[in-house]
Amino acid sequence: MLSRDSSCSSDLDKEKIVYVFGHQAPDTDTICSAIIATNLEKEMGNINQVIACRLGPLNKESKFALEYFGFQPPTLITNASEADEVILVDHNNPGQSAKDIRQAKIVKIIDHHGIAGFSSPEPIYILTEPVGCCCTVLYKLYKDNDIPITKKIAGLMLSAIISDTVLLRSQTTTQRDVKTANKLAKIAGVNLEEFGKQLLTKGTEISDISDYDLVFQDSKEFPVGDEKIQISQINSYDTKEPLDRKEGIKKVMQEYMDKNKNIVLFVFDILDIYNMDSYALVIGPRKKAVENAYHVEIGEDGVVFLKKVASRKKQLYPDIAHHLINIQRKEKRSKLKEDKTDEKQEKKEEDKKEDKKDEIKPEINKEEKQEEKK
Ligand code: MN
Ligand code: MN
Repeated sequence: MLSRDSSCSSDLDKEKIVYVFGHQAPDTDTICSAIIATNLEKEMGNINQVIACRLGPLNKESKFALEYFGFQPPTLITNASEADEVILVDHNNPGQSAKDIRQAKIVKIIDHHGIAGFSSPEPIYILTEPVGCCCTVLYKLYKDNDIPITKKIAGLMLSAIISDTVLLRSQTTTQRDVKTANKLAKIAGVNLEEFGKQLLTKGTEISDISDYDLVFQDSKEFPVGDEKIQISQINSYDTKEPLDRKEGIKKVMQEYMDKNKNIVLFVFDILDIYNMDSYALVIGPRKKAVENAYHVEIGEDGVVFLKKVASRKKQLYPDIAHHLINIQRKEKRSKLKEDKTDEKQEKKEEDKKEDKKDEIKPEINKEEKQEEKK
């Protein structure tokens, strides 16, 4: 009996703890992908203790999706390195991950974002595809591995796709997202348009959300050269409601920038999901990057209208980063020039001194010569 017990516990000791999680300020795709990828690991025979996790509070939209299809929220964690291994979904940028992600052992990444600031000394599994939603990538993995997609799982995957692609209308939407969403709606037994609107509407209710939560419920930090930019986004059917709260929102943004000096630009984007246009609140010393990117002028109140700008991933971030890099380059170039003119100036002055020395010398010589004559 005893030996059996001890062998059991040693087996348990061998079982690793694996955390599966998406980015900070979790959105519906991050929450659903964590659950879906955890289920996939189990179905594919991962014998470890695989746990779906999240790095922050659920937003209303995610909560609605989980309740609708009967799922428990992923486990809230703060430290990733307490797990033996971690699997990242819906992100790979360490700046958007757990604070101690550099101490964690990442074994897998399943994502649909650009690669930013990530490296691994060990070979790892990475699957990232240019589609509109991480669950579109996961759907393919289920299919490729003959893993059954239940009604519940289909509903969760569908919720993520609706959320990330704003009901298949955002610029990030691909044909594969459209096909996948339609197949999933059938399996889940819901009407895509009706359920989609219901889900998205949940995400736009802001009356009982504080200014702070409004700013940070979907906020991402991006490194650009030596600087950082922060872009938050909310969906809205009625943009007037959040715009009426712009002073409170800007105060939260400013306080965050005061605490994080390396952030040079903070954009709070209010996406009008009916017209797919944006109103953005912009603050920070690098405002010019936004103005250059969209040929607009930011109002004194920090508000700017961005026609047909809807995607943070495909528009805001790359457009602003591109123009910020240009500004940084220009500054570096003109600084180099300044340094060079400074150098030239110094050289001129040195030359002058040399000249003066030369001028003095012959005089001394003259005197010497005169003395010699004497
Ligand atoms: Mn996401
Ligand atoms: Mn996503």
